[in-house]
Amino acid sequence: MKTAVFTGIRKITLEECKTPTAKGNKVLVKVNSCAICTWEQRVYTGVNKVEFPFIGGHEIAAEIVAMGDDVNRTEWAVGDKVVVGATLQCRNCYYCKTGNSQSCEHFDHSAHLEGLPYRGMGGLSEYLLVSPDCIFKYRNVDPNEACIIEPLSCVIHSVETANVQMGDFVLIIGCGIMGLLHTLLCQKKGATVIVSDVNEERLKLAKKLGASYIVNPMKNNIEEEVKKITGGIKAQVIFDTTPIPIVIQDTFKCVSNVGKIVLYSSIHPAEPVLFDPNWVHGKSIQILGTANSNDRDFMRAAQMVSEGVINLRPFVSEVYPAEKIQDAFESAAKADKFRVVVNF
Ligand SMILES: [Zn+2]
Ligand SMILES: [Zn+2]
Repeated sequence: MKTAVFTGIRKITLEECKTPTAKGNKVLVKVNSCAICTWEQRVYTGVNKVEFPFIGGHEIAAEIVAMGDDVNRTEWAVGDKVVVGATLQCRNCYYCKTGNSQSCEHFDHSAHLEGLPYRGMGGLSEYLLVSPDCIFKYRNVDPNEACIIEPLSCVIHSVETANVQMGDFVLIIGCGIMGLLHTLLCQKKGATVIVSDVNEERLKLAKKLGASYIVNPMKNNIEEEVKKITGGIKAQVIFDTTPIPIVIQDTFKCVSNVGKIVLYSSIHPAEPVLFDPNWVHGKSIQILGTANSNDRDFMRAAQMVSEGVINLRPFVSEVYPAEKIQDAFESAAKADKFRVVVNF
């Protein structure tokens, strides 16, 4: 089988390796589509440090092609279309055992998965050997869309972390794929969505996807706009989906009393941010973090996409065959796309 291997910064090649065999309680899946996430883009450009050689890929739509003898036949069958979830949760630690496997103590992007020649999350491979714990069925949609169920599951986790309520004003900063997925979900939760971005095209798309108000902070003062829109109260929930440290200061200016600020994106460069502790205390502000997703988030993301509640088609920007993996990464690294998808 083929697998795409990072061999250095801005270097990725297809390598031939042995196809693993399904045995015991393991399932062999054929990867149809794998999307290139920002995390892999940062590995490619050297921002995220890994030890080379390394196999990336964690946004995966696949199909079961073989099953070990111990796999539960009432739940699984050859031919099932599945998305592959976080294969790296230990399922043994305190967090995994208390329903918070998205924050697994032993989560490691650089684990060595069984059946692969090198370390890494492995999705940019023709076949993967996985535990049935890590796969979730989907139906009705193309694998190029289904591979985006993984990021959707992370956004479901984020929106639920904020516990968005009907009637809330929600400010979403950044209209990349993550900002737009937040827009879709918050709108469906009954919130009034305000989005902010410097890219007019993306603001237009956000409006089409259900945002009630758009703000371009290059043209208008975001605090003033949010005050105007909310009648002076400001936003009950803010999601920051950008990696820019200074944007966090904007969230402080735009949040209501008893409001919540969710830091969805990782921040680059990771600089400390100053805040007034008496303001957090006095106004009962909640600053929350979220990352990854758990089984429940995956099940619900797969269900919403399978039944057309969420349409992921607008986020499939380009599709490349695996043979053009380097071109796919060069294109994804330009960061003007939503998702670049690789087909095996
Ligand atoms: Zn991802
Ligand atoms: Zn764990």
